[in-house]
Amino acid sequence: MNTGIAKLDDFTARFTTLVGQAPTEADIVHHGAQLLRGLVSADDWLPPHFAAPDPQRYRQYLLYCDPDARFSVVSFVWGPGQKTPVHDHQVWGLIGMLRGAEDETRYISRADGTLEAAGQARLLPGQVAAVSPATGDIHQVANAFADRVSISVHVYGADIGTVSRFTYDAATGQQKAFVSGYTNV
Ligand code: FE
Repeated sequence: MNTGIAKLDDFTARFTTLVGQAPTEADIVHHGAQLLRGLVSADDWLPPHFAAPDPQRYRQYLLYCDPDARFSVVSFVWGPGQKTPVHDHQVWGLIGMLRGAEDETRYISRADGTLEAAGQARLLPGQVAAVSPATGDIHQVANAFADRVSISVHVYGADIGTVSRFTYDAATGQQKAFVSGYTNV
């Protein structure tokens, strides 16, 4: 799929080459993060219709999905003050900050199923973070700003909008299945 967005097409072509080399997940995360860092190093390519916020809820626009669903690329658009529930991904993910900033709280699942907060981080434009079921991928993410839009570009190791995964009650650890879908599909 060619979106006609030159920087995005170049990125997806390079990412397709990377996954075609049958790398390990660690290699995808390492080399894919370098590619994503390049894509979010300048905020001059995302069309306005993939950057539009919603007053009620954060949006997830599908920018690209690999024909074999080996990876997908999403623009994650935060309205002021919006945040996700605590959730997991079930596949590796890369998060590149394009505009504004987001705050992430990571959680570890204890043996009894309850959650323990395991650190916080702020992601700034040009920076890339990773999640993976192999290294822990339960987190909650929020727009760092109460008065403006933030946007990050995510890459996941599947057609993420169709993946069955879980949200968590931060207090009890209780899981609830969900499928995120996409705003534009
Ligand atoms: Fe997430």
